[in-house]
Amino acid sequence: MPRDKSWVEISHRALEVNLAALDRAAASNLSTNTSRTAILAVIKANAYGHGATVCAPILARAKWLGVTDAAEGAAVRESLHAAGIAEPDQPQILLMCGLDCADVPLLAHHRLTPVIWFPQQLDWLAAHATTKHPIAVHIEIDTGMARQGARPGEELTRLLAALCRHPQLTLDGVMTHFASAEIAGSEHTHTQQQRFEGALDQLRSMGQHPTWLHAGNTSTLDEARLLPWLSTLAATLGARLLARSGLALYGYTLPLEGAPAQLASALQLVGTWKSRVIAIRDLAPGETIGYNATFTATQPMRFALLPVGYADGLRRELSSTTTQPGGWVMLHGQQAPILGRISMNLTTVDITAIPEAALGDVATLLGPGITAEDHARLAGTIPYEILCGLRARPVLVP
Ligand SMILES: *Cc1c(COP(=O)(O)O)cnc(C)c1O
Repeated sequence: MPRDKSWVEISHRALEVNLAALDRAAASNLSTNTSRTAILAVIKANAYGHGATVCAPILARAKWLGVTDAAEGAAVRESLHAAGIAEPDQPQILLMCGLDCADVPLLAHHRLTPVIWFPQQLDWLAAHATTKHPIAVHIEIDTGMARQGARPGEELTRLLAALCRHPQLTLDGVMTHFASAEIAGSEHTHTQQQRFEGALDQLRSMGQHPTWLHAGNTSTLDEARLLPWLSTLAATLGARLLARSGLALYGYTLPLEGAPAQLASALQLVGTWKSRVIAIRDLAPGETIGYNATFTATQPMRFALLPVGYADGLRRELSSTTTQPGGWVMLHGQQAPILGRISMNLTTVDITAIPEAALGDVATLLGPGITAEDHARLAGTIPYEILCGLRARPVLVP
């Protein structure tokens, strides 16, 4: 059987450790009512490149899982069944990123919960629901992110009125999303908080009592101020608080501007991306390597060839030139710097200082010693994009 050119080892234990750390973070930021708080484990975008159907069964004790769309939700639902978890014990599954009317039959079949924000979406859903088999929805309130959500005021009133016309639809949750959660005490977040409070007043005055209330992300959990506020809002509405987190589940957080981040030290890396050395060769001084000959050997060198490149999500910005170092991989516990341009499916790394390196050796492209944060810094982006960009098969390890 052919071997994978590269693969991502998913640590079962680290994923459990991180979920427990999120539980503790939620609890420690709340003085009361912790039993009414639950975690929504965000596994959208194929669990940020870690494999949604691999991660979902491990995260099955979370009350909620958040996925991209109905296709991903259906696959996740099936992975939970395949893991022997019966439906009453499965998490509920939230479709977080829009709703396509063509997705509604699949959504209804797998009992997935959509995030909705305009009346037409309710009409699509109502056509596939009955009072005996209702569809539950979460309403998103746009408090300043603007991409999704009903605006407080007239727009929200119209949405709630439309909901009342469809007894086969139930309001299970209300949510919003912060645009600047990683900046503690941000003015924009403050405005969003006020708008959210206004929207919830509207909900109450129209007699709506959703079961769940949620907002924010990993950074919101990491910031001591927002959670108690959310918890009070939930209590006022008679709802339970749901804390959403994705990035932290996989062992990463964003640096929190203006406040000490608490979560990072409790987290473990979940995914380790690996590949194998498929060739080794020497370079004489003066020889160049790779596209556009950006790297010239100035001394006798030895390099290893890895069968991965930008087609697999290894960002081309990690390439190097003779004068400008780029990224590196870990080999025998040491850094092997990337030499020259990263190609579509091939990458060359310097093993001059690693004489024990041999054919078939496993190199770590991402993991201990070279993190998504390192890749992101070199590629001028955020760890999220690096993780989501991985195209390698997830393999579960203990
Ligand atoms: C992706 C997403 C999250 C998770 O964000 P993290 O920073 O990864 O915790 C939370 N809420 C919404 C609405 C999202 O789209």
